[in-house]
Amino acid sequence: MRALALVLLLATSLPAQTADKPVLDTARSPHAVLHGVPVSAVKFSDGFWTQRRRVTADTSLPTLLELFETKGILDNFRRLNGKDVARRGPLFTDSDVYKWLEAIGFFLQERDHPELRASAREVIAIIAAAQEPSGYINTFYSRENLKLRHTNMRHGHELYCLGHLIQAGIAWQRATGETTLLQVGRNMADYVHREFLTAGRPIFEGHPELELALIELYRATGEKKYLDLAGYLLAGDPRNEAAVPPREFVYLFTVRPFVTRQIMEGHAVRAAYACAGATDYYLETGDARYAETLQRLWQDMARRKQYITGGIGSRGAGEAFGDPYELPNPQAYTESCAAIATMFWNWRMLHAWPEARFMDNFERALYNGANAGLSLDGRLYCYRNPLELTGNPEDKIRNPWYDTTCCPPNLQRIMASLPGYQYSTSKDGLWVHLYHGSAMDWKLEDGTPLRVVQKTEYPWKGTVDLAVSPHAARAFVLHLRVPEWAPKATLTINGTPWTGNLQAGAYAAIRRTWKPGDAVRLTLDVTPRLTQANFRVRENIGKVAVERGPLLYCMEGLDQADGTTAFDWYLKTNPPRFAESWQPELLGGIVTLKAQASRAPKATERPLYERYAGQSAGGRRAGEVTLIPYYTFVNRGTTTMQVWVPVE
Ligand SMILES: [Zn+2]
Repeated sequence: MRALALVLLLATSLPAQTADKPVLDTARSPHAVLHGVPVSAVKFSDGFWTQRRRVTADTSLPTLLELFETKGILDNFRRLNGKDVARRGPLFTDSDVYKWLEAIGFFLQERDHPELRASAREVIAIIAAAQEPSGYINTFYSRENLKLRHTNMRHGHELYCLGHLIQAGIAWQRATGETTLLQVGRNMADYVHREFLTAGRPIFEGHPELELALIELYRATGEKKYLDLAGYLLAGDPRNEAAVPPREFVYLFTVRPFVTRQIMEGHAVRAAYACAGATDYYLETGDARYAETLQRLWQDMARRKQYITGGIGSRGAGEAFGDPYELPNPQAYTESCAAIATMFWNWRMLHAWPEARFMDNFERALYNGANAGLSLDGRLYCYRNPLELTGNPEDKIRNPWYDTTCCPPNLQRIMASLPGYQYSTSKDGLWVHLYHGSAMDWKLEDGTPLRVVQKTEYPWKGTVDLAVSPHAARAFVLHLRVPEWAPKATLTINGTPWTGNLQAGAYAAIRRTWKPGDAVRLTLDVTPRLTQANFRVRENIGKVAVERGPLLYCMEGLDQADGTTAFDWYLKTNPPRFAESWQPELLGGIVTLKAQASRAPKATERPLYERYAGQSAGGRRAGEVTLIPYYTFVNRGTTTMQVWVPVE
């Protein structure tokens, strides 16, 4: 009886954590300057992301599981174990389940969530039962589609699904110590390695993603064959080139050697995942050709092809990058997954080259391009994240489900893993990347236990208080990111102004002997600011965007006076005047901005074209517009929306 009780206990409780591993485990990566701090070491206190993460854990993950059931996505696995149902959904649905599991893995690394854990365990059992003795697992290329196996490398997503399986297995193992799911992933990775690399048969991945997973699997297991397989995929096998139409070299962002890439092009998610995987490869190998290519591609993205939201992918056709400066607002494709992909990439670049530009770029996508993708109630998701909406009710921009439902669980895994992106260590000390109330209990690389408590109401307020407590007095460098938007930042230590080099868009390096309880106060100016686009972004000529701290703002029609739309207004910018107001009841609690503006004459009373009468404000009336953070757009029903506002 006692034995039975013990077995039951083991089956239902969470084993002690076997590994405190960061999101990206670069502890032994020879070319990583930074090393992560695990999700489990950082406890967020109440604040901006705690609210978003709570809705993810309490609502988003359970409702997505219900949808997996009603849409047959879990039955796709059960049918491989005898359940008599038809396979449903596109050929990559397995990956959505894996990402959902990975998100739960990250949440469990932080603390137990018994219901999520129980649901996930059931799903893992269903997956494990579906694996073939050979190690192969993919619900599409089985049973009636067995003959299609390995025949559709371009669009088949076979290896893409494997990537997500491995990542889920690693997150789950790091949370619970349980290796079942990781073993399923390894079995399939071993299958691919054996059937292709060892057998000398060519293979490629039509949707990059597996590289990141294989390299983390290499880090988790020490087995070099996984790194080699990733290297093979990134290097491209010339034998594949004849099987791919040349235009698809662009779209797929694979097949040809990664290091021959000159520009960001093709499918945005594919390209950015490929870059993230290539950065992982650089962190392990230090191959200079990868370093050059990565720096070149990052510049091409950040200087010419990225939205102010941090999103990428201008064109709906091919979900693709456009030409340089082709950044249309209403047509912006900017898939949630693409913004997330830039975050993965930036996080890896930062590990190799710890420069604030990568984290500034990460933060832009986090607060705006990615954050917008999850509705405030956690039930709806954006696939596209446009920067302008006409108010057409046919534009269903937030939906509970997509046939291609890649974005919802991708958003979930970002929310779940977020504490793991707040800090890093390096040989010389600690790096603070993100500001949010939290307590970190970790250690310096010399082994000194270190506690850092952050208190802040960021992003709404710009004051960040850090209590830095090494176990005993210790000399090290505290690297604090000063965002590029905060040129007026100030810094004090125990109340005394810091006299070092405090520069926006750089990490301040505070080198001193730290004693338990040392108080650091960083003050960032979050006064609303106007941003203009490069004049080559033709659609934004004569317009500005409003930003406040890391948050991008937008106008929605339903907030504007007298039944006007978002498009009937010109912002007064000389000088700009904003009234800021904390609205605890609105959109989950936001700071709204009211700005002086002038209202255009009624469009319906003017002809479509008329003789140009100069830039006078004739016919315009003074008024005021309201702006809200972009991430909250279309949470109150269909309305007009714009980020870029014409200036008077
Ligand atoms: Zn997606």
